[in-house]
Amino acid sequence: MKVIIAVEPTKPDIYSYSVAELEEIVVSRFNQPKFRGKQIFQWLYKGISAFQEMSNLPQEFRDRLEREFRFGHLSLIKKHISQDQTEKYLVACADHHRIEIVKMEYHHGISACLSTQVGCKMHCAFCASGKDGFFRNLTAAEMIEQILFIQAQTKKRVASVVLMGSGEPLDNFEEVSKFFQLVHDEDGLNLGYRHITLSTCGIVPKIADLAQLNIPITLAISLHAPTDEIRSILVPINRKYPIKQLLQACHDYVAVTKRRITFEYSLIQNINDSPKMAEKLAYLLQNLLCHVNLIPVNSTLADFSATKTSNVQEFQKILQSHGVNATIRRTLGDDINAACGQLKCSFNDRQVN
Ligand code: SAH
Repeated sequence: MKVIIAVEPTKPDIYSYSVAELEEIVVSRFNQPKFRGKQIFQWLYKGISAFQEMSNLPQEFRDRLEREFRFGHLSLIKKHISQDQTEKYLVACADHHRIEIVKMEYHHGISACLSTQVGCKMHCAFCASGKDGFFRNLTAAEMIEQILFIQAQTKKRVASVVLMGSGEPLDNFEEVSKFFQLVHDEDGLNLGYRHITLSTCGIVPKIADLAQLNIPITLAISLHAPTDEIRSILVPINRKYPIKQLLQACHDYVAVTKRRITFEYSLIQNINDSPKMAEKLAYLLQNLLCHVNLIPVNSTLADFSATKTSNVQEFQKILQSHGVNATIRRTLGDDINAACGQLKCSFNDRQVN
C-alpha cells in the first residue's frame, strides 16, 4: 500500500518581492488597489515583525496576507561580542539551516557582513565556511533579512554591506542580483550601490554577468597568490579559471563599469608572502585600475600562520614602489572567530545563549 504523506507547502516569503511584484500581486490576486503594493513594501522595512502591524491596511486584507505569506525572519541562536565591538550572530533560517552574520563598527557607521549560501562549494584551503560542505543557496529575501536582523539588534541603520560571509556570491548570481535590486529601492533600505562590496573567489563567466548589471558596487577578488601553482592550492576554483582568465575578466569589468577593483590577498607565512611574490603580484596588476587589500591570514582549522607584521609592511612597500595601491586590512572580530574566513554554519554548535 502506498502511504501518502501530506506536506504543507512552504508559504512564500513576503520579503522576496519588489514593489512592482507586490503591486501585481495585490491587484491580480487580492483585488486591491495598486498602491497597496507599495504600502506593504514600505512596511517591511520599518522594523515590524507581523502583518498585523501594517496598520493602514484593511484588517481582512492583513488576515489574508498572513494566511498566504510567510513573514520571513531569522531567529537568533547565539551572539558573540568582540572586544572591538564586532558582533557575530548565529541565526536560524525558517528551514532551520544556520548561518552567521557579522556586524562591524566603523567611523562611517555600521557595516554588515552577509552570508550568501549555507556552507560553500569552493573549498579554499584557509577558509572555514565550506568545511561542513554546501547545503543551499540563500534567497534574496534572506539576505535582506540579515540586514534587518542587524538593524533590529543594534537599533542603528546599516550603512554598508559586504558579501563576505559564508558562501560564494557569484555561485548564487540570480538571488544576489535580486538582492541588489531590493536593497537599493528607495522605498525600502535605500542603500547606495557604492556602499556594497561583493567578494568572489573568481567565477570568471559570472564576473562578466556582473559587469553587465553595470551597477557601481565594489567588486573584490580573492586573489591570494600571483602564480597558478600556488593559487590552485589555496583557491581550487583557479584550476577551472586560472589567473590569466581571471585578470582578463577584471580588465573587461573595469572597461565596462569604470570601477576600481579590490584584490584581497591573505598573507600566509612562507606560502605567498615573500618579496618575490610581491614583485610578481605588482607585475600582474600593472595597468589595471585596482587596489590591493593585504590581510594577515586569520586562524581557522587549517594549519596556516599569519605573516609577521614587519613582513606585511615590506610586502606593501614593494607593491607601492611599483605603483600598485595597497593597504593592510584592520582585522576585526578575530577573538570571536568573526574575521574573514572564520564564518561557518556551525551545525555542531547546539549551545543556546
Ligand atoms: N566566497 C567569497 C566571499 C567569502 S570570503 C570569496 O571567496 O571572496 C571573504 C574573504 O575572506 C575572501 O577574500 C577570502 O578569501 C578571505 N578569507 C577566507 N578565509 C580567510 C582567512 N582564514 N584569513 C583571511 N582571509 C580569509
